[in-house]
Amino acid sequence: MSVFVLKKKFIKIFAICIFSFAVVLSAVFGVTLTNRPVMKKIVVIDAGHGGIDGGASGKTTGISESELNLKFAKKLESLCSEFGFIPILTRENMDGLYDETAQSKKKSEMKNREEKIKNANPDLVLSIHMNSFSSSSTRGAHIFYAKGNEGGKALATAVADSLSTTIEYVHKTPKVGDYYILNCTDKPAILVECGFLSNEQEELLLQDDEYVGKFCYYLLCGVLKFYAYQNKSN
Ligand SMILES: [Zn+2]
Repeated sequence: MSVFVLKKKFIKIFAICIFSFAVVLSAVFGVTLTNRPVMKKIVVIDAGHGGIDGGASGKTTGISESELNLKFAKKLESLCSEFGFIPILTRENMDGLYDETAQSKKKSEMKNREEKIKNANPDLVLSIHMNSFSSSSTRGAHIFYAKGNEGGKALATAVADSLSTTIEYVHKTPKVGDYYILNCTDKPAILVECGFLSNEQEELLLQDDEYVGKFCYYLLCGVLKFYAYQNKSN
């Protein structure tokens, strides 16, 4: 059994323990929990770009960011379900989220994303993107949160911590990011730039199923960690 499988088992047991503990508390001691148990949290998973807006593109393979964002979002969706979260995707396919007749497709797209987030009434938001830079040697995931969003900051820190235990080149200190998708909600929200399509090795890694699975798994472990800390301090 590989270390990865062992860790996966451990996290599953850990998640089940948190859930069981919450259930026992409320059933046996009649404690009213202010938060839903971890397993029932609604997670909006936002795959950036789509439609005519492909985002960044791979220098070697030509793959579009919008396609990879969706690949990561779908993987996260299935992992979230596995762990008992309620995942809601802002887009499920390669279509753009803008109204076809809109004058500014970008504005229309962002408004519709915001609408989807509001309607989902999520407990947290994970927005997925891929990066690109003029220097091909730049690589590594970056995590962003909105200025003043303390929940977002704590979530970003937990996710960066978790990812950096296994994924190489992750930037351990999350940054404030002035992004519409982060500013449009006061729920804990992060934007994850999973890696650089302008870096040859990372461009290939980001398309590798095993790497995507590992990345999403540790991202989700960060979410669990975030809730574990919250339960401690509540
Ligand atoms: Zn992007």
